[in-house]
Amino acid sequence: MLERPMRELIHQTIQRFEAAGISSPEINARMIWAHVMGLETWELTLRKQEPDEDQRKIAESLISAREKRIPLQHLLGSVGFCGLQLDVCSEVLIPRPETELLVETALKIAQEMDHADLRCLDMATGSGCIALSLAEALPESTIVGVDLSNDALKWAKHNAEKNRLSNRVNWVCSDLWESLTPGQEKWDIVTCNPPYIATHEIQTLEPEVRDHDPVLALDGGVDGLDFYRRIASEAVPFMRPAGKLILECGMGQASSIIQIFISASWFANEIIQDYNRTDRIIVFSPLHESSHP
Ligand code: GLN
Repeated sequence: MLERPMRELIHQTIQRFEAAGISSPEINARMIWAHVMGLETWELTLRKQEPDEDQRKIAESLISAREKRIPLQHLLGSVGFCGLQLDVCSEVLIPRPETELLVETALKIAQEMDHADLRCLDMATGSGCIALSLAEALPESTIVGVDLSNDALKWAKHNAEKNRLSNRVNWVCSDLWESLTPGQEKWDIVTCNPPYIATHEIQTLEPEVRDHDPVLALDGGVDGLDFYRRIASEAVPFMRPAGKLILECGMGQASSIIQIFISASWFANEIIQDYNRTDRIIVFSPLHESSHP
């Protein structure tokens, strides 16, 4: 038997979200009501439970905040990523599902490397989503997460604690490799989801992204590719001979990024598409060691 009042409340919420131009209004409505009721989304209409007065008030404040295009993840406070639960706010980029594909790619590469004590570096770590997922899946590896923003690192550390991974990841505040010592610290796997939105496109993004993700984590310069240029020219001395660099990129950027890396003496190993068939992840190897065996 379906409980009508709950269905009706969800239905009304969906209509309000549609009117506010929110994408995936149903998921948003069900997740807010589930959060308020302390239920899973699939239990909402299964249980004959109705929200009490307090729950209705809390739901109303969340729904009206969501109508103002505050991201759902900020309202609920956390987001699921690769099986971890990560707390987020406007100081860190909300982890995206596409970035789980970056982790999946890194884990496949780690398996192929065939030794357990891998050294993995996550550049521009933000919430720590990639570094922490690697730490969870590769218990014998060394993991370092780097970010320019101390505010972001505060959240990465908090998320490490929340997921009981504090002793598994070291965090470094640095503008890419600037504070790391070339030659001394070499890595098997370097991951990075850099800022890749062209500056002039930021204004065209959905309000949730434009107004609530940190601009530092979005802005990739005039053509969105500034960080790829820097990574291509700065990363080689930090790679182990058989090391792999795994990068996320924006829609339509893959071929330009590959050109940048080939010109800087890298080899493009693989391009992986996301589930929308957009080229999303690119794997590179440094050529330096193979030319000097
Ligand atoms: N994936 C984010 C978006 O499309 C951008 C994050 C980034 O620049 N790395 O909104």
